[in-house]
Formats: sequence, structure tokens, C-alpha cells
Amino acid sequence: MWNFNFVVPSLMILIILLLYYLLRPRLPIRMNRTFLVLLVLELMTIFTDILSSTADEYFDLLPVPLLYVLNLAFFALYVGRIFWFYLFTLDVLGLHDKPHRWIYQLTPFVFLLTEAVVLSTPLTHAVFLIDETGYHRGTLYSVLYVCAFFYLFAALVLLVTYGRGLSVFDLVSLLGCQLILLMGNVARILLPQYLVMNTFCLMALLVLYLSFENPDLYISLRGSAFNARAFRDLLNEWNGKKSYQILGMVICNYNEKRGIYGSFQMDQSVVLINRYLTETFPDALVFYLRNGCFALVGGERMNTELMCRRIAHRFRQSWNTKDTDLTLTAGFVQASSGSCCDSVDRLVNTLLIALDSAGHSAGPQEDITIPETIQAIDRDLEVKRVLERALEEDRVEVFLQPLIDARTRRPVAAEALARIRGEDGALISPAVFVPLAEKNGRIIPLGSQVFRKTCAFIRENNLTELGISWINVNLSPLQCMNRNLAQSFSNVLLEYDVPADAIHLEITEESMIDYSLLQSQIEALQGEGFEFALDDYGSGYSNLTRVKQYPFKHIKIDMSVVRDYFWQRDQLLPTLIQVFKQMNCSVTAEGIENAEMADALTEIGCDYLQGFHFSRPVPFDQFLELYGQKK
Ligand code: C2E
Ligand code: MG
Ligand code: MG
Repeated sequence: MWNFNFVVPSLMILIILLLYYLLRPRLPIRMNRTFLVLLVLELMTIFTDILSSTADEYFDLLPVPLLYVLNLAFFALYVGRIFWFYLFTLDVLGLHDKPHRWIYQLTPFVFLLTEAVVLSTPLTHAVFLIDETGYHRGTLYSVLYVCAFFYLFAALVLLVTYGRGLSVFDLVSLLGCQLILLMGNVARILLPQYLVMNTFCLMALLVLYLSFENPDLYISLRGSAFNARAFRDLLNEWNGKKSYQILGMVICNYNEKRGIYGSFQMDQSVVLINRYLTETFPDALVFYLRNGCFALVGGERMNTELMCRRIAHRFRQSWNTKDTDLTLTAGFVQASSGSCCDSVDRLVNTLLIALDSAGHSAGPQEDITIPETIQAIDRDLEVKRVLERALEEDRVEVFLQPLIDARTRRPVAAEALARIRGEDGALISPAVFVPLAEKNGRIIPLGSQVFRKTCAFIRENNLTELGISWINVNLSPLQCMNRNLAQSFSNVLLEYDVPADAIHLEITEESMIDYSLLQSQIEALQGEGFEFALDDYGSGYSNLTRVKQYPFKHIKIDMSVVRDYFWQRDQLLPTLIQVFKQMNCSVTAEGIENAEMADALTEIGCDYLQGFHFSRPVPFDQFLELYGQKK
């Protein structure tokens, strides 16, 4: 009665596929678990199909209960297979999260109903019955087709509705899979005795395997480690649902090492390192991301610091490939779920940037066994983004803080201080963004924007009416390196019709590294009419001899020195101030926070005072409100 010509080869091919799938590393994500269940269901369905069909042929030799058990097992598995094919489509579409969870919760209904009909068969004879003449189809046999067509139709509707997020290849594969299953059902209706449905299901499984489960898609390093795509897939599934920790590890100066050892040797060492990581930390999943960057992902209790120390310890020995011993160092970065980044893209991006920078700060091995967290890097990236937007949209704000005449206690000048605003509108301190802007060179456009806005303010407002004579603008060391600085500043002065003596430029000691360049810059700018102030004196090396070599007219004593003096009144600061005075410099004390500080600093000869005691830095309009009436 039955023809096994299709089903037996299908079973053999399926066993090969299953073995292959079990022997390769698999990512613990929903889609892969569903696929594994699907493979097992297919195997058991084929197996029970062969068994029950054979048993049905020899019904007169076998006990009736056994015939019922075998047929029931087959039909129950058969219905399960229909449903799991559908589940796989849901997994690929990623519909298990809100707001689509209802799809997951509602659709098993038809599956459960069909299973109930199948399992009630011994009592109801719904799907089949066995009597003295053998096996017969039941009155409700077509419920199997209703179930199959329902899920094929449901999958089609979901693919049309939500499939736009998929690549064309993935979408076509899923549609192709539904088409094959549809053809299988039609073939089963037309040629029931050939048991061909199993072969069509196997074909559909092959399509899914090649499109979504193919190890080449998520395994690199000659089959030994998961790749960056697998890393993203895993985090996409875990994010927001599971607590996890990531330890990023990078081979320091990877590209340079490639140059030294050769790419073949380096590739081999990467395989060795991956093997070491996988064997040493069996509880973690190991990913090779790119250019010597690895990520180990584990649960909440993964001890990243201990792991770092172990790995760093191993890196003290060389990595021995076939014909070279490679001496390498490792850098580390750590991150955890919900640590900072709201999206997986941002997390992966930040981790890679952090690893790149860890891979270039090649210190001695002992120094880098404590992993850096990516929060700080993520914060920096956010600040850089905000700064970039502020620069592009000309939205850098300038605040003014008055410099007070120590004797009259009236404002004589003001310092222009840059501000930017975060997404939430909150001000970001220059103490945060100026060092970053100095690192990536954006301090140059930032400085010009502050300079231009200060000039615009001076043109629009009469400084003498505000009671002040000049405004201090900060100049970064990087700006001082620009040979066209004097020219570009004087162009702006011309544009706004502002006299150069209305602006004093503040530079810090860090600018004094390149003596001859700074000397010529200062001369050029002085030629244009600018005056110079040395900012934050006492915060760095504070070499008086060096200071003497530059034509500063004003010295600003750093607030740390002011505080030290206030707590311990020795002769150091008063003497220093006298020295500056003999050099014909005015002296400003920064960071004056109360009346006692103001009095004490006035007493020892400071000319100007600046600090929160008088005013915090305020926006232009507030500055006008505060000092505008003092005409
Ligand atoms: P700075 O030039 O030494 O500026 C003085 C800093 O001290 C300002 O911080 C000011 O708000 C703060 N300050 C003033 N009085 C007090 C006080 O009584 N107590 C305390 N605790 N702090 C006080 P701000 O505005 O955060 O600026 C920090 C630094 O950022 C500046 O130090 C300057 O080096 C840099 N900066 C700000 N704007 C610019 C700019 O436009 N260009 C460049 N190159 N650097 C800038
Ligand atoms: Mg300053
Ligand atoms: Mg200062």
C-alpha cells in the first residue's frame, strides 16, 4: 500500500543535516533553538511515519493499541512540525517582543485545537480508525490540512506585513519555504501513498538551513569562533530581557603586529587565542569581532576582572604558531547589559571604539589588567556628537563671568566661556567637552565660534556702558599652533569692527611647549593689538623663568593655588604676586567663592578677582541685565 521510495532517502539526508548541525557551534538564540526542535520533529515524524505505515500494512499481526499509539504519535508529531515551521518564521521576523507578542500568544490556538482532535481519535475516531479491515481515515481527517493551510496563510500574511525589515534574500527564502510546504501538502493530497510530505519538509528545512542556519553566516576563524554578526544577533535577542556581561579583549597594536609577524602568522595566533579563550572560559561565549578584537559574553556573575588577570597572565607567554613565537599584549574593555547604550548598534559601536583605543594605549602588561568600562567612552561619544551638532548649527553658547577690580569691587572685564547643551537642554561643562575637542581637533572651530560671538557681542553692546574694558577669550594650545591665527582673528575683528584691545587672549602653560612658535604667534597677535594673559598659573609646572620669556600683561592665579593659600597662609603666594607685579603684570585670582577669600586675596595685592562669590558665568542677556544699568 505505502511507497517508501522518497521517505527513506529523506531520512538519511536528514540525519546528515542533523549531525552537521549538532557538531558545529550554535548560538543560544531563539531561532536556533526552534530550528533544532524542527530538525528533531522532522526526524521523529519521518521515523513514526515509516513505523506506523509499516504497522498499518501488517495490522492483522499487531495488537490494536500499538497501532493506535504509532499512528497517534505520527499525527501528533506531524501537527507539531507544521506549527514549528510557522514558529521559525515568527523568530526570523523577531515578533516575540511587544507590541507583537499577541501574535505569539494567539496563534498556538489552532495548533492546540488540532492536537486535541488528533489525541481524542481513539475515542472519537476523528482522524483515523482501525478496525478488523485495517487503517482508515476518520471523518475529521481534513483537520490536518486546515491546520497546515492556516499556518501557511498566517506565515504569508506576517511576511507581507512585517517582512520589510528583512533582506530580500531572507524574505525570498521564507516565502520559498512556504511555497515548498504548500506544494508538499498538495502532493500529499494527490499522492498519499508516496509519503512525499516528508521530502518537501526536508527541502524546506534545507532552504532554512542554507539561508539562516548556515554556519558560514555566523562563524569565522576557520570555524572556531562566532563572528560579529552572531554577536549582534545574540545581543539583539538578549537586550532588555537578560542580564549579561561583556569582556572585550584586543590584541594591542594588531596591525603593527601583522606587519611584523605577517598576516598568516597573526591569523594563526588569533585562532590559538580563540581556542585558549573558549577552553579557559567554558561558561562564556567567545566572539571574534575584527582586527584582533574579541568579545566574551557571559551571565551576570561572570567575573570580568579575574578573567582579565588570567588572560593577561597567559599573554606573558608567547603564542607559538607552527614556525614563529609571537609576543603579544592584550587590552581590555568591559560592558554590561543596561550599562549605558540603549541600542545594540550603539553598544557594539562603542565597544569597538573602546577596543580600538585600548589596543593603541600599549602600556606595560601589568597596567592594563583592569578593564575600562565603556560607559565613559559612550559618554564621550555622546558629548562629541552634541559638540559636532553645536558646531555645525552654530549653536555654541558663550557665557560671561565678570573680573572684579579688587579695590573698587566693580567689574572691569569679563571672561568668555563656551557652553553647549545636551539633547535634554542641560548645559555641558567645558571641563567635559574642551578636553575632547582638544583631542579631536574640534577645539579650532569651537574657538573661532566663541571668538566670533564675543566680537558680535562687543559690537552690539558698548563695553564702557557695561562698565567693563575688555573680554578675555580662552585660546587652546592647538589654536596656538595654527600659523594663520593672527590673520583669521584680525579678519573677524574687521568684520565686526571691534578694536583688538577689547579682547585679551588667555593661554595656559600647556601652550608654552613649542617656544619659538608660540613666541612668534604672540608677537603676531600683539602686532594686531591683542593682549595676553597667562591662565591657571600654578596648576602645572609653573616655571617662572619660562613665564618671563613671554610678554604676558596679565597673570591669572589658578583656583587651586588660591585655595591652598586660603587654608594655609604662608608667604609663597604673596611673594609670587610681588614678583609678577615687578614684571609689570596684573594679577587675577580665580575661584573666589566668598568674602573672606576676596579680602585675603585683595590684601596680598591681587588686582582682579574672579569667582562665584561675584557671579557665576552667565549668558549674554543675563550679563546685560546684571551690568547694563551700571552705565
Ligand atoms: P578657565 O579658563 O580657567 O575658566 C575658569 C573656570 O573656572 C570656568 O569654568 C569658571 O566657571 C570656573 N570658575 C569661576 N569661578 C569659580 C569659582 O568661584 N569656583 C569654582 N569652583 N569655579 C569657578 P568653566 O566655564 O567650566 O571652564 C572650564 C575651562 O574650560 C576653562 O577654564 C577653560 O580652560 C576651558 N574653556 C572654557 N571655554 C573655553 C573656550 O572657549 N576655549 C577654550 N580653548 N577653552 C575654554
Ligand atoms: Mg580662562
Ligand atoms: Mg583659569
